[in-house]
Amino acid sequence: MTAVRRLERTRNIGIIAHIDAGKTTTTERILYYTGRTYKIGEVHEGTATMDWMAQERERGITITAAATSAQWAGHRVNIIDTPGHIDFTVEVQRSLRVLDGGVVVFDAVAGVEPQSETVWRQANRFGVPRICFVNKMDRVGADMDRTIDMIHERLGGTVARIQLPIGSEDSFAGVVDVIEMQAIFWDKDDLGAEPRPAEIPADLVADAEAAREALVETVAENDEELELAYLGGESVDASLLHDAIRRATLANKVVPVLCGTALRNKGVQPLLDAVVRYLPSPLDVPAVEGVDPFTGETVARSSDPEEPFAALVFKVVTDPYVGRLAYVRVYSGRVDAGTRVLNVSQNKKERLSRIVLMHANSREEIDHVQAGDIAAIVGPKFARTGDTLADPGSPIELEAISFPEPVIHVAIEPRTKADQEKLDEALRRLAEEDPTFQVRVDDETGQTLIYGMGELHLEVIVERMRREFNVGAVVGRPQVAYRETITRRVEGVVGRFIRQTGGRGQYGHVVLDVEPAESGAGITFKDAIRGGAIPKEYVPAVEKGALDALGSGVVAGFPVVDVKVRLVDGSYHEVDSSDLAFKAAASLAIRDALGRGGSVLLEPVMKVEVVAPEEYVGDVIADLNARRGQIDGMETRSDGVSAVDAHVPLGEMFGYASDLRSTTQGRGTFTMEFEHYAPVPERVSRTLAGVAATA
Ligand code: GDP
Repeated sequence: MTAVRRLERTRNIGIIAHIDAGKTTTTERILYYTGRTYKIGEVHEGTATMDWMAQERERGITITAAATSAQWAGHRVNIIDTPGHIDFTVEVQRSLRVLDGGVVVFDAVAGVEPQSETVWRQANRFGVPRICFVNKMDRVGADMDRTIDMIHERLGGTVARIQLPIGSEDSFAGVVDVIEMQAIFWDKDDLGAEPRPAEIPADLVADAEAAREALVETVAENDEELELAYLGGESVDASLLHDAIRRATLANKVVPVLCGTALRNKGVQPLLDAVVRYLPSPLDVPAVEGVDPFTGETVARSSDPEEPFAALVFKVVTDPYVGRLAYVRVYSGRVDAGTRVLNVSQNKKERLSRIVLMHANSREEIDHVQAGDIAAIVGPKFARTGDTLADPGSPIELEAISFPEPVIHVAIEPRTKADQEKLDEALRRLAEEDPTFQVRVDDETGQTLIYGMGELHLEVIVERMRREFNVGAVVGRPQVAYRETITRRVEGVVGRFIRQTGGRGQYGHVVLDVEPAESGAGITFKDAIRGGAIPKEYVPAVEKGALDALGSGVVAGFPVVDVKVRLVDGSYHEVDSSDLAFKAAASLAIRDALGRGGSVLLEPVMKVEVVAPEEYVGDVIADLNARRGQIDGMETRSDGVSAVDAHVPLGEMFGYASDLRSTTQGRGTFTMEFEHYAPVPERVSRTLAGVAATA
């Protein structure tokens, strides 16, 4: 296959859904039906099939893979895992970055659930074309029409409805394809169910004709070519209509909507046809932009195997069978396995010794990857999530996926002593996969602390530990990760550690200048001694002593950030000086500097966006104000909902999810992201210092 043809026949998609809408079931079915051709003969009956699925799940390589490759109708469909919990803005953005199109799954009973609004908006922002699958048509109360109305009203989507359900709830038997004007039945409920084309049942013919008319009109309004044909009185045949729907979908003007029931194996094959027909190939999406690391200029790379190689590492995981795997999306160029590429983000060369495609039931070693591909690199030395890999001859750094510092932590301990080792291992693995999750041990208490982006984030991690690693854990109450810093420059701070106790004594003497640095600068240490007042060999000990002392500030014992330390003077003793003495001297000087430097407590401030129907906005704002929030702006959207932007200290946001639910009767949603650290107001600071002192 030529490179261009292969690109045309690639779909990189994500399946996006509110939790419980059926993402996992739909994904499993897609993998099953796409993998089927390879399995035929082995799978005779329902039970054998289910066994295979169960084993598959146990082996855990398929549905949990960050990306799985499948074949459908001569196309390669790469399914990129999207987070089930859409509160993790970072995760959502990360997956939306690398996929070209989305399948949004709804529960036909619940319709558009509040959280789906959040992902939908994100997808709008990234311009991701999508199709919708109204799942669970077999459930009591399933209603495709109502779900479609909700997609229109709540999400502002222009629906191109391409199917009608045949029967409903228990009697749901198939769909009418209003493009081809035929019925499709599934005669069985089990996995073997194959679509059977048939004539449209007589009682649905009139509805089907009306639905087709409505579809043609909607699409014609959003696609000029079809409009011309339609107004010109041309008969709109299936292929004309397919092409027009494709164009309007790619332009994000319409969303094709289908229905079915993944659990009962109905509607999945037409969904796959729609993925291939309407969702973009890598050639249909705009060129990716990045920065030339040498010139700092913005450069673009289009989906072209002839351009220099550029790829983004979008997830690093530890696979139980092959070890470390780095999933990459290749944006341009081509590389063969065994080639050395540049990890631009870390400025290191990395050899891509083995490249694999993950399939539903196997791993396929491939000899090269090219523009548009999604694949995994086995055993990378350096690659971290968010890194760019590129041709060393023409490097480019793609916009990194930015990972904020974790802002909340809880203490965690195993439920039983025997679990300690398993707990450590599970935490290590999870931290490797997720750059926003960290594990630290508190020096003083010896407690293991896990750090993350929010309450839900840590809850999910604990849940994953239980499910995937089989470790039970007890967690403490969530705590905000406060910091401290100084507000004034202090010069010539002296630290002296001198002991004369008979025999050999201790002698360390340093003079430091300590000053505030800009927010986010961290800690810097500089040796600015002139004339050898202290021998060079002791400088590392001074630095170590200073850094250790900065680990715990004077206001409430939180780590100190954003200060510059300069070692400017000191003295030593031929016999009595030692690393230990200089470390102690530096530590004394730092404590003094923190005391005199106007130390303050810093708290993480979050950027919060709340979306709620207009009638609740007053309450939402009042509540944010009560949480020391600052309202930055408000926007009313066409669909009767308003978005409120605010900055709120994290410490005030605990329990917000449930509070918002009750103020808005479940219709409000919010996203929250770390923005910066800011000084805590005096009043609050005093309480916190008090709490820390008594803790
Ligand atoms: P996810 O949280 O979105 O991944 O949802 P799952 O795929 O895990 O499904 C959630 C629940 O809904 C499970 O109990 C499924 O068995 C069930 N489910 C999924 N699809 C259907 C369907 O088409 N019909 C019915 N009745 N239940 C379904």
